[in-house]
Amino acid sequence: MVQGEHFPQSSAPLSTLRNGTRPVVIAGPCSAESRDQVMDTARLLHAQPGVSFLRAGLWKPRTRPNSFEGRGTEALPWLMEAQRETGLRAMTEVATPEHVEAVLEAGLNAMWIGARTTVSPFAVQALADALKGVDALVLVKNPMHGDVKLWMGAIERLHSSVQGEVGALHRGFSSYGSHEFRNAPMWEIPIALRAEMPEVPLLCDPSHIAGRPDLIQDVAQRAMNLGMEGLMLESHVDPSCALSDADQQITPAQLHQLLATLEVPTSGVEGSQDRDALEGLRLQIDSVDEQLMRLLSRRMELAKDIGVLKHKNRWSLLSVARWRDIIASRTTWGSELGLSPEFLEKILGSVHEESIRVQGDEANERRANKDQGDA
Ligand code: PEP
Ligand code: MN
Repeated sequence: MVQGEHFPQSSAPLSTLRNGTRPVVIAGPCSAESRDQVMDTARLLHAQPGVSFLRAGLWKPRTRPNSFEGRGTEALPWLMEAQRETGLRAMTEVATPEHVEAVLEAGLNAMWIGARTTVSPFAVQALADALKGVDALVLVKNPMHGDVKLWMGAIERLHSSVQGEVGALHRGFSSYGSHEFRNAPMWEIPIALRAEMPEVPLLCDPSHIAGRPDLIQDVAQRAMNLGMEGLMLESHVDPSCALSDADQQITPAQLHQLLATLEVPTSGVEGSQDRDALEGLRLQIDSVDEQLMRLLSRRMELAKDIGVLKHKNRWSLLSVARWRDIIASRTTWGSELGLSPEFLEKILGSVHEESIRVQGDEANERRANKDQGDA
């Protein structure tokens, strides 16, 4: 491991940094809010080595209307000024051909495509057409949901149109309900992308995966352990005042601290390929287990709702016919997927037992509440 060692400031394209000892780092605020905020952040990011690109969103894809939607073209000169003064290469998100036109006209030639855009082949094709023959660097974030083919398709559309370099940016995947990460990393998806497209530089955006500062370092480290080429990190001079993604932005000082403690595995050392493979497999197991826990929890929530209905209608908790159907259908599904009958019997038995317990608890609680009400 090489620790605390920085690669020099550089505006070279990503590919020339692929096998360097340090990751490519893109840092900057979620949104460009004012000239001062952009300049102050860029200067602080540049003050220490390690960062080579400045990011800032100009057109913000917000989930609900009537929130801050970015400064738009007004902010382009701020990014260009920061690029001129600090030498950090500026980049922003483009979502429409008009954005591409405005960005290129201002002289900016590095950009990324956001997760909400990657889901739409029509939108991606329109961007690819707007970038036809243009010498630009384009990073394609993964789509909102875990569809590796859709991500690959977007990369292919851009690759066949853009003159410059196209890279992939892993920002995690949206999922229902609340959980540890803002966007589940589902490491198996970027690992599958790497296997299918080994020539495409693959970067990670720990800020949008983590959604909170205390998880960012761990996500960044995992990306390094998987051999990803770089990181995109959101950084703001004063995160508490940020107009978008205030909860996940870190200060430039915190970002430099993170980079200084990041361990970057050296490649080419004996056994390193097997170590990378082991790390990749473990991360996939972590991700699958996280999804398993979420599904089990969802199943128990449904069992609780069933408990309420059974209590209300005075139906019995145990339905032998339904249980037989469950065992038969799940055993067939599981066997088709290569799971052993003994394992299926044990796991289905445990799940059933817990469901009945949860339903019973729910019914007992309702009964107790009612008794209290009657008393
Ligand atoms: C962003 O980078 O600020 C952004 C909106 O990202 P994403 O497309 O990953 O949500
Ligand atoms: Mn953001």
